[in-house]
Order: sequence, then C-alpha cells, then structure tokens
Amino acid sequence: MASIFSKIIAGEIPSYKVAEDENYYAFLDINPLAEGHTLVVPKKEVDYIFDLDDKTLSGMMVFAKKVAEKIKEMTGCKKVAVVVLGLEVAHAHIHLIPINSESDVDFHREKLQLTPEQFAEIARKLSE
Ligand code: AMP
Repeated sequence: MASIFSKIIAGEIPSYKVAEDENYYAFLDINPLAEGHTLVVPKKEVDYIFDLDDKTLSGMMVFAKKVAEKIKEMTGCKKVAVVVLGLEVAHAHIHLIPINSESDVDFHREKLQLTPEQFAEIARKLSE
C-alpha cells in the first residue's frame, strides 16, 4: 500500500507544497514546531532513509538545501535544523525546522495550531 507521503506526492491527499522536482517533494508539516517546518521526501518510496541509494540520498540533501535557504530567508531564523526521525511515517523524509535555540527542535513541545490560510500563506512565501 502506498504511504501517506506517496499519496500526497500523487495529489491524492492535499498538502501545502513548497517545492518539487522530478525526484523530490517538499511540503509543510501539518503539526509544525515552527512556522516554516517543512518535510522533504524522495518520490521513490523507501522507508528508512539510509536504505536509499546513494544518488537519491545525496540529491535529497541538495534539494533540501534550496528549501532551507528559503526557510531561513522567510523566517530570519539563526539556522535551519535537519532532523530525521521516521518513526511515524514509513517513507523516508527530512524535517527542516527553523531554529534559534536547541529547544526549538524538541518534538515533545506543543505543536503550532495554524489555520489553512496561514499554512497556505507560508507555503506561498516559501515557494516564491
Ligand atoms: P516522523 O515519521 O516521526 O518523522 O513524523 C512524521 C511527520 O509527518 C510528523 O511530524 C507529522 O506531523 C507529519 N505528517 C504526517 N502526516 C502528514 C500530512 N498528511 N501532511 C503533512 N505532514 C504530515
């Protein structure tokens, strides 16, 4: 069965798209730790990130770099953290999270409650 992220990539489930090319897709995390919290996924469906072939893995980081530059520009954050968990969704992905301090990447923190309009506006700014 296709993963929820494959369904998002196929357009079967809606997402707030930030960037896309032939191999990768970036969209806003629906439970963001901060405005601009984005997920980068390979279109190829593989569960564990280190099971990706080298070309897909390295290309994913180069793709993520461009998205991270946008996040930094939009939020004015100190840095963009790169986090890989993958315990909830079995489709390799990188979390890109704008941070100003270490505590900004605490996944136990309460997530932001954003309206659809706010998500759409953030995605619009990041995809400009
Ligand atoms: P993990 O697999 O532990 O890295 O967590 C999966 C992440 O995907 C979580 O931060 C979820 O909020 C996020 N997520 C799950 N479903 C969706 C969705 N339909 N759209 C956007 N983000 C999602």
